Amino acid sequence: MPKFDTVIIGAGLGGLECGLILAKHGKRVCVVEKDALIGGSLQTFRRKGLTFDTGFHYVGGLDEGQMLHTLFAYFGLMDLPWVKMDTDFFDEVIIDGKSYKFANGYDHFCETLSEAFPDQKENLRTYTNLLREVGQNTINSFAPKDADVVYTQSLFAQSAYEYLCKTISNPLLRNVLSGTSLKMELNPALPLYTFAQINSSFIQSAYRLRGGGMQIAEALRKQIEALGGEVRRNAEVTDFVATEDGKIASVVINGSESIDADMFISDVHPATTMKLLHNSHLVRKIYSKRIESLDNTFGIFTVNIALKPNMVKYLNRNIYAYRNEDIWQLHDNSKNDASAILISFAPPTDGTEYTRNIDILTPMRWETVSQWYGTKIGKRGEDYEKLKLEMAKLCIAEASKYIDKLDEAIENIYCSTPLTYADYTATEHGSAYGIRKDYNKLMFTLLTPRTPVANLLLTGQSLNLHGILGVSMTSIFTCAEILGMQTLVDDIKRQ
Ligand SMILES: Cc1cc2nc3c(=O)[nH]c(=O)nc-3n(C[C@H](O)[C@H](O)[C@H](O)COP(=O)(O)OP(=O)(O)OC[C@H]3O[C@@H](n4cnc5c(N)ncnc54)[C@H](O)[C@@H]3O)c2cc1C
Repeated sequence: MPKFDTVIIGAGLGGLECGLILAKHGKRVCVVEKDALIGGSLQTFRRKGLTFDTGFHYVGGLDEGQMLHTLFAYFGLMDLPWVKMDTDFFDEVIIDGKSYKFANGYDHFCETLSEAFPDQKENLRTYTNLLREVGQNTINSFAPKDADVVYTQSLFAQSAYEYLCKTISNPLLRNVLSGTSLKMELNPALPLYTFAQINSSFIQSAYRLRGGGMQIAEALRKQIEALGGEVRRNAEVTDFVATEDGKIASVVINGSESIDADMFISDVHPATTMKLLHNSHLVRKIYSKRIESLDNTFGIFTVNIALKPNMVKYLNRNIYAYRNEDIWQLHDNSKNDASAILISFAPPTDGTEYTRNIDILTPMRWETVSQWYGTKIGKRGEDYEKLKLEMAKLCIAEASKYIDKLDEAIENIYCSTPLTYADYTATEHGSAYGIRKDYNKLMFTLLTPRTPVANLLLTGQSLNLHGILGVSMTSIFTCAEILGMQTLVDDIKRQ
């Protein structure tokens, strides 16, 4: 008998959540992570006593009764130090120097933006009603009635951009409504459901996590281990071994050790998973080629900034600032000019009203850094260092327009590019949000957990929806393939 019921490849949010769900149901699980740290895009790093986030910065839908709260209560994550953001102004969108407020609560959101666009009030109400419906529909995702499924599918099959053009007659307002969307890729292919569901969850409520995203990964790990499961670091899956009847018998770790199991779940990007399967001949080339040919969302350049004490006041909202009028062109942004940035403020951990760390994020295409693919972190050469420094300067110059004396306050900076993510998380092309879903090609781009290999399932951000909420929902869908959806619905209801 194999030592494990299920081996999970990758200790990102999706892998750890699947590990916990299965361990709660008495399954013997082993989560194997290639990196020295677990968490994937939840990872934090520490420098000179300060903690910096690499990916995750805030979540939506965490108030009681909302979707992420329901799931995080089930995953035992509600005791973490969540910080509720300013409900009247949790996101600020600045376009061409003019500021617009995003407020929590559907009606409050609509009224607040109507003050800036009085002649668009009716259109805003139509838009807000869609977000409200999607929010209510999300809660039914695990036990959907036929009508819920039809509703979701119909929104997945529509273009977000076309919906906005049809519903909102003022082009500036269209851009404002899209303006908090560096947390997805505004591509013409973007399905309306993705756009509406993510925006809806943040309009319900928005929270940061004091002390960084790694706490989520650590809390999940501890629970898995307390239930008898294993989470192994520095354990890279390098191969799959096939059985004679076309299933997976085991994974090979670091090219030497084998781990057997009955079931396998991959939290690794699907295209990377296909490459790992090549030697085993378990999937036909036509299938793996199809997955490997799918486009990915853009990558992100991040400058993590360490600030001197008592210099920059903590802002309980994000700033999204754009120089470009047409935000929907950003997916194609090859100029690397920091014309679109997100500024995130880390909640103070020293009891003062000042932050010690802000992060500035901006989209970056893989092509910008692909020439250094294959080089090692810290040894990519002078040109790469120069590129990072120049990008950081541009981002800081842009952020300085909104943060007083930012230059003087900076103690240190640390930069990451899509290449950093490609190396740390093995995400294809260092893509921030995984496979690009295309409303026109849903059959091809909206992957399900099942694969042609009977005992291999997929999970993680490249399926269904990305982000903390999307990945958490997908973990339920993936584990339902093993445990049955009704079992999990009952579990979640019991919380
Ligand atoms: C810059 C950035 C900012 C973001 N901000 C937000 C935000 O504010 N809010 C939000 O909701 N979402 C945000 N997201 C998205 C969110 O962080 C991700 O959707 C989510 O964390 C992805 O989790 P995952 O488990 O799918 O994948 P990952 O986090 O990529 O995890 C995959 C894991 O698999 C491991 N792995 C890969 N190959 C192997 C192998 N061969 N063997 C073993 N292990 C392997 C990797 O090392 C990694 O740990 C952000 C993402 C980025 C990149």
